[in-house]
Amino acid sequence: MKKKKKISSKGKSKKNTKAKYKKRNKHSLLIFIILIVVLFTLAYAAFYYYQKHKYVFELFDGVNVELNTEVNSADYIKKIENATVTYNSVDTSTIGDKKIEYIVKDKLFKKEHKYYLTIKVTDDTAPVIEGKDSVTIYKNSKIDLNSYIKVSDNYDKDLNITHEGEVDTSKNGTYKVKYTVTDSSGNSSTKTITFTVKDKPIYEPVTLENGTVGTTSKGYKIENKNGATYINGIIIANKSYPLSSNYGNGLTKEVNNAFNEMKAAAASVGIDLYIGSGFRSYNTQKSIYNSYVKRDGKSKADTYSARPGYSEHQTGLAMDICSHNLEKSCVNSRFNNTEPANWLSQNAHLYGFILRYPSGKTGETGYIYESWHYRYVGKELATILYNGGNWITLENYLGITSKYAD
Ligand SMILES: [Zn+2]
Repeated sequence: MKKKKKISSKGKSKKNTKAKYKKRNKHSLLIFIILIVVLFTLAYAAFYYYQKHKYVFELFDGVNVELNTEVNSADYIKKIENATVTYNSVDTSTIGDKKIEYIVKDKLFKKEHKYYLTIKVTDDTAPVIEGKDSVTIYKNSKIDLNSYIKVSDNYDKDLNITHEGEVDTSKNGTYKVKYTVTDSSGNSSTKTITFTVKDKPIYEPVTLENGTVGTTSKGYKIENKNGATYINGIIIANKSYPLSSNYGNGLTKEVNNAFNEMKAAAASVGIDLYIGSGFRSYNTQKSIYNSYVKRDGKSKADTYSARPGYSEHQTGLAMDICSHNLEKSCVNSRFNNTEPANWLSQNAHLYGFILRYPSGKTGETGYIYESWHYRYVGKELATILYNGGNWITLENYLGITSKYAD
């Protein structure tokens, strides 16, 4: 019975369990599905949350900047989200690759991430060449082609200078030289200068600067004033002391008056004086001297004619005196020892004139004896220099020389 019962109960329960199982399976499936849905929802929520809060950091690339451009490292950040960033600045005063380190701190995980950007600082500015477009140089002078240009660059101190074309200073003519200046970045500039080679002139125009120049061997102060040299207040123009090219504009009134006084005195003893040559400008002297150089050569011309700028006639205080009593003896040695010449050498000082280039004093004055050339210095000094007929030269009196520098 028991067995049967068991069996029967077994059969009975089998039926019941099957139903129970069906019910239970339905339950678990539901729970499972719910669980899956919940998990999925959670995962999605987490994913969504992450997506929304994850950090984003992007940089631009291939950045080139010109030397000395002011840059801000922040400008190279393309995109930044949910993070803070710190970075270094860039020195653009030197060329080359510069590294920027960006430290990105993400807000979600509080983690640091490092990013690097290399930017190229480049020099695209060409050097500058300054100088004249044309230069005149004298034949046979030594020249340094680089001394005619001044080069500068925004970056390089040592620039490479090359030239095309040469200047042959042994031959007169024009020569073109093309300079090319290149900096270390390969930027280059060019400039062409035209050189003209010509003969050196026999004189150089002079411009005197105002100021004290020195002291003579006799202690007199040498001073430049308004284009002339003054020594102890006396204007000096000889082979050592030139006048500025633009100095002088005729015989001074004082000199004219003094000459007229002297002329009248001479006339009273029958001597008829006149000025053969008074004031001579720089340009007049230039053509006179040039014609003598052409005729006699430079070294001979220097013994009797002044170079332009060095003639006492340009002072307006000197004159060559002639006489109508004589023929063909004006401003030449035929005037020597004539009656008018003798009268002048004995009396000129009384009117303020001195015999400027006495006989036998070439070593002092730089000029041969000129019996006709008189210089106004005023009666007082003229009387001192007259020296009882034994003329003292201005050079000796002041302690100066009369020699060309070359
Ligand atoms: Zn003269």
